[in-house]
Amino acid sequence: MDKKISLGLLGEKLDHSFSPLMFNHYFEKLNLDICYKNFPVSSEILPFLLKKTRTSDIIGLNVTIPFKENVIPLLDDLAPEVKIIGAVNVIHNSEGRLKGYNTDYIGFLRTLRKYDSLKNEQAVVLGAGGAARSIIYGFYKLKFKNITFFSKIKNEITKILDQFHFLPNLNGERWEIEKIKEKMKDADIVVNATPVGMSPLEKESPVDNDFSLKKQCIVYDLIYNPKVTQLLKAAQIKGAVIENGLQMLIYQAVESLKIWKTEVVDEEVFIKSCKEVLNASLSKRR
Ligand code: NAP
Repeated sequence: MDKKISLGLLGEKLDHSFSPLMFNHYFEKLNLDICYKNFPVSSEILPFLLKKTRTSDIIGLNVTIPFKENVIPLLDDLAPEVKIIGAVNVIHNSEGRLKGYNTDYIGFLRTLRKYDSLKNEQAVVLGAGGAARSIIYGFYKLKFKNITFFSKIKNEITKILDQFHFLPNLNGERWEIEKIKEKMKDADIVVNATPVGMSPLEKESPVDNDFSLKKQCIVYDLIYNPKVTQLLKAAQIKGAVIENGLQMLIYQAVESLKIWKTEVVDEEVFIKSCKEVLNASLSKRR
């Protein structure tokens, strides 16, 4: 008999998504009657799918590119962080009412916990999409003294500065390589929140390799496939501490499970099971 479909991922192109692997491996391990499925949809179908969700067995959805913003007007309730970040990556269906959350920023913050020596002073964020805004929110939570993000689009800069109007230490700058490198020089942490470095752009880096960093600077690429992007390679050669997006991916998933209240979440088992399946899958895809 088929398992009851109760969780899934909403996005456009989902063939390369790791989420079903991560969740299903864990559910199978614990012998739980839960199945996590991909729901690839177009923007035209999105409202229809969410309407159907309300009366279905689906109790939770993750949301990915390009719908993290588009789903917002289709939901009944929003968690407070979503109102600021403007992006949803988790939906909970509670008896027909759909509530949106953002767990990307929690995933990011949880990854940073291990860096005791990180000074909460200068942060640089490359990009201005949903992930960049989650990261900015994370830096706000960590009370960073100065946060600078870079975008190619002037309107995006203005929009983000408006969204984070309560954050006087947030600077939005136009995407100019020399300006980015100037800011990177003094940064305690640099985050790549653009897809540059990921397939089909795996040979590219958001900045050329001729940059300088402070000693102990953390260079964090939200990309996890490849595990070491061109940016991370260059940063590692310069002695930086490097982090890819794998742990953030796992932590945002743990936080999703907590919101869906599917079963008692055994975090340790879930994290271990995700690492197992992701490492195996990433080495196969290399
Ligand atoms: P998004 O909403 O599409 O935003 C991407 C941002 O990158 C936009 O500001 C975009 O600017 C900018 N960008 C794209 N190409 C660029 C280029 N060549 N030069 C400069 N800027 C460029 O995507 P997202 O959801 O924020 O995701 C961004 C990245 O984070 C993706 O690689 C995604 O896989 C990763 N991510 C990882 C996790 C994780 O758990 N590890 C979670 C979320 C996201 P324009 O609008 O001007 O194109």
